[in-house]
Amino acid sequence: MERIYIGLGSNLAAPDQQLRSAIEALALLPCTTLVGVSAFYQSDSLLPGQPRYTNAVAALDSDLAPLALLDALQAIENDQGRERLERWGPRTLDLDILLFGDRLIDEPRLKVPHYQMHLRPFVLYPLAELAPSTLQLSDGRQLSDLLAACPFVGLERILPD
Ligand code: ATP
Ligand code: CA
Ligand code: CA
Repeated sequence: MERIYIGLGSNLAAPDQQLRSAIEALALLPCTTLVGVSAFYQSDSLLPGQPRYTNAVAALDSDLAPLALLDALQAIENDQGRERLERWGPRTLDLDILLFGDRLIDEPRLKVPHYQMHLRPFVLYPLAELAPSTLQLSDGRQLSDLLAACPFVGLERILPD
């Protein structure tokens, strides 16, 4: 069993509902327990001209191997109508593996910790709701240090109903 943190995001086709559906799908993954879900956070897209995003983080305990989990997450994205037209384009659902136990993964399909999580308040603040404040990432960085360097700017915290 390893503790895994997943970043969820959507900015198309009722984003909050997309996240709720994705959370139900995560709870049904084989060999996996859904341990927690953060509040939802809304923010403007990093790229101009896109709808606002809703983001959240989920914590899982799983016996799945990393690439098996990635396959399962991509299947959930596809089930919810994810189309890959342009890089960083608007999407119905994005599921990123942020952290996978204490693993450092550097494979063509999978880099963990997620390469930009330290720059993204919509990842770090929901993660901080679920992870211990003393969390150390597998590359040695402290979550508290990443938070201190990433101001809570432009985020609106929405409690899911
Ligand atoms: P970003 O990675 O900047 O958040 P994105 O989520 O929009 O952008 P995608 O198009 O969803 O990028 O994913 C592109 C590829 O990234 C995926 O096909 C996957 O193989 C790869 N990838 C690498 N590391 C990870 C990770 N930690 N979690 C999910 N996908 C990853
Ligand atoms: Ca992403
Ligand atoms: Ca992604």
